[in-house]
Amino acid sequence: MSNKYTDLIEFDKNHIWHPYTSMTDPLPSYFVTQANGVELTIADQKQVIDGMSSWWAVIHGYNHPALNQALVGQSHKMSHVMFGGITHESAIKVSQQLISITPPNLTKVFISDSGSVSVEVAIKMAIQYWHAQNKPEKSKLLTVRNGYHGDTFAAMSVCDPVNGMHSIFEKVLAKNLFAPAPKTRFDQPWDESDSNALKAYFEQYHNEIAAFIIEPVVQGAGGMRIYHPNYLKAAKALCDEYNVLFIADEIATGFGRTGKLFACEWADIEPDILCLGKALTGGYMSLAATLTTDKVANTISQGDAGCFMHGPTFMANPLACSVANASLTLLNQNDWQRQVQNIERILKENLLPLASHERVQDTRVLGAIGVVEAKQAVNVAAIQKHFVDMGVWIRPFGKLIYIMPPYIINQQQLNSLIDAIASALDKEDCFV
Ligand SMILES: *Cc1c(COP(=O)(O)O)cnc(C)c1O
Repeated sequence: MSNKYTDLIEFDKNHIWHPYTSMTDPLPSYFVTQANGVELTIADQKQVIDGMSSWWAVIHGYNHPALNQALVGQSHKMSHVMFGGITHESAIKVSQQLISITPPNLTKVFISDSGSVSVEVAIKMAIQYWHAQNKPEKSKLLTVRNGYHGDTFAAMSVCDPVNGMHSIFEKVLAKNLFAPAPKTRFDQPWDESDSNALKAYFEQYHNEIAAFIIEPVVQGAGGMRIYHPNYLKAAKALCDEYNVLFIADEIATGFGRTGKLFACEWADIEPDILCLGKALTGGYMSLAATLTTDKVANTISQGDAGCFMHGPTFMANPLACSVANASLTLLNQNDWQRQVQNIERILKENLLPLASHERVQDTRVLGAIGVVEAKQAVNVAAIQKHFVDMGVWIRPFGKLIYIMPPYIINQQQLNSLIDAIASALDKEDCFV
């Protein structure tokens, strides 16, 4: 790496936290100086092809003229204004767009700052909904194992109890209910018995349950598992039968990533509450939304409190909303469905066959998501270095080497990502 940045990198190492990283024995951080299209530039020198979309977010690629324009244009009008007692065009436009593209029952939009906050908002909505009907005992969440819903407290309380953070925060985390994770794979014939364990939870605990929360079809950070949509159908039917709200966390799956605009569409279900984030602004900045129905919103508003109890300082930030509008427009113009189908076809052709490698447990693909599950955990520092040497940016965790590239990636770039994964599998030092 060039000397020019040595001091800055040293400062970073000594003073700045990175996600899930030790402060005393940190993994290396690569110094990115620029990003364009599908490529990140490391220390002004090396271009690497991005396989991560900066964690599902940068679907249209980096430094996009239309998104830049939206941001600059809005900044000349106002970068921010409080949302209490004030409204503005960017917030209205993004809400109109979200209402028109999400399932028809979702008509009310709460805009917030990040995915985790949108989950907090969803959970508060569910609890306030039952509170307003004099059923405060309905305050627990039911979910499935292997889930990931964010890092704040209510969100953590529905993350997987084993690979999540439950052991450290046990004393302060809400005690929620965990059914087994869905077992039937997306491409397997549906096994009716898969939802039996879930049904038992509904039967036994429905009087205490405010809502069921799940990541539709793809469980992301909790294991990159891709399961059968009929599980969602069964879960939604149980929610209806037992008077439990259904929260769909589409923060990772939303905006086309799985091959449908929203993963709920695979099961043809309408959630009562929907969480969106990550790709909402095309990865330009943090913004999230929680959508709900007339019924939920009206019930909350007619309860004792008379309003929904949440209101972040940067609610509906105009810069973020205007980039979100531009990103949603691009999604349409770029024909996301064709883009995602092309990525899926190449992943199926070239990534799925890595399943026969001796170090590989399983491979799976859905839409623009490709997963290689190794038999052993990766050595993150070593495999990361190997990937950068190979000219790609892929960040595995545990046994999972996975990619979800920007939708604008071309065939050659995508094959470079797959080739880099294949070559890492041949390197003993990339695994622990
Ligand atoms: C990333 C993610 C979150 C949390 O979003 P943040 O913006 O990181 O707070 C919640 N749920 C799912 C499914 C996610 O993938």
